[in-house]
Amino acid sequence: MNLKDFWITIVSELATTLGRSEIITWFKNTAVLSLENGFLTVGLPLPFFVNWHSQHFAHITLEAAKKIDPSIKSVVYQVDLTLGDNDPRVIDILKHFPEKPSSRKLPKKNEIKYENGVVSKILNPKYTLENFVTSPENRLAHAACQNVAKYPGQNYNPLFIYGGVGLGKTHLLQGTGNEMLKNDPTRVIVYTTTENFTNEVVDSIQNKNMERFRNKYRRVDALIIDDIQFIANKDRTQEEFFHTFNSLYESGKQIIISSDRPPHELTLLNERLVSRFESGMIVDVKMPDYETRLAILQSKCQEAQVIISREVLEFIAFNIVTSVRVLEGVLKQAIGQYELAHTSPTVKAVAEMIRQTQKEVKMIGFIENDPIPRSAVTIEMLIDSVSQYFTVSRSEVIGESRARECMVPRQVIMYLAKTKLRMSLAKIGRTLGDRNHTTVMHAVEKMNEQLKNDRQLLRDINAIAKEVGIH
Ligand code: ADP
Ligand code: MG
Repeated sequence: MNLKDFWITIVSELATTLGRSEIITWFKNTAVLSLENGFLTVGLPLPFFVNWHSQHFAHITLEAAKKIDPSIKSVVYQVDLTLGDNDPRVIDILKHFPEKPSSRKLPKKNEIKYENGVVSKILNPKYTLENFVTSPENRLAHAACQNVAKYPGQNYNPLFIYGGVGLGKTHLLQGTGNEMLKNDPTRVIVYTTTENFTNEVVDSIQNKNMERFRNKYRRVDALIIDDIQFIANKDRTQEEFFHTFNSLYESGKQIIISSDRPPHELTLLNERLVSRFESGMIVDVKMPDYETRLAILQSKCQEAQVIISREVLEFIAFNIVTSVRVLEGVLKQAIGQYELAHTSPTVKAVAEMIRQTQKEVKMIGFIENDPIPRSAVTIEMLIDSVSQYFTVSRSEVIGESRARECMVPRQVIMYLAKTKLRMSLAKIGRTLGDRNHTTVMHAVEKMNEQLKNDRQLLRDINAIAKEVGIH
């Protein structure tokens, strides 16, 4: 049997379990390049086929090959950029696998494999849209991603997500890619960082194979490009990206972009690109509130199957306010301690860890040399201190009275709970006698206004904050 017939027999065998569209997508322009010493070398037309084949088809290819020639030990993939439609080594995939209108729809084998954890290397399976914890600060971004995963190329194109470091942009991008792939495993979804994209442009210029680069990107079903701010100043990459963008956009393919700032602030970007970005959906992600941070920690503990005490989780959620990545980093250290000792670390131990590794974090609720480490300052402590300071009773503060002696302390509590304890308006309202979140919002706004002129109020607030340790 010659190599070509050999390959036809193998692919036909694979076609009994894979879907036709999968065969066409991944086996078009492939060939057996050689069979020597038990090594079957399969040629693939594009570099990014290698990961996919290795992860999804290597095993079944080897099995199919062994059926024909038991001496075959291994399948080796080799990129051969010259493989194309007119290459005599390549099998005519459409001819050998014609569409059969009556054929039973084959189950999507990929999807099953996907659930078994075999996935594209391009996308990290640990990021999903399900395990992304939503809060008011990221809900819109998450909803947009869900919509895009369901209806790629239709409603929000391009989708542009921006926000600071470690707030979940990469998670959302990859989660969307994973979801799209789950919905249809035959889709070609490319996730790339802007840095990687730039390197590819540079390599292609050097090796004079720009055409190949363009073909690679223009045949994808969805392009996900992370951290586009790094394209600033790189004129040639911007130019290439612009053309890729247009080509994909015009053929209705989904494009998802992330950036550390909104499009109009990407000053070194070609204006045409900025206006392309602005033509789609733009959403931001911000640091989630305290409750969500706690929920994220709990969800990560569940994923890792460890139990860390609630007090410790509250302490971390309370003190880490700049990035979810740092939040996760601190939790990982706590988990490390848990795994060493098989018991939840103490707040004191975690505070020590934060002190050593997160120098810029100013911790609240744990006082150095305090013999009894305390967890986060709670709104309860705040209510007590404020009532004492203004010499009113706790029930008066929480109650309905609209007398000034009660109103002022109540508003001070709301203000401090929002600005210092970073609690959500809803939670503050609930704790303070089941008030509506808009009441809390007005109180905070009013305080903000008043503090501009009222020096006594400012002194009062500072004194209280100092006393509870949240100044
Ligand atoms: P960015 O790309 O914005 O810098 P990442 O997506 O890399 O941030 O997020 C940093 C880490 O925080 C990741 O491990 C991610 O899983 C986690 N993370 C961020 N936001 C959330 C969230 N809302 N729910 C769960 N995990 C999150
Ligand atoms: Mg990122």
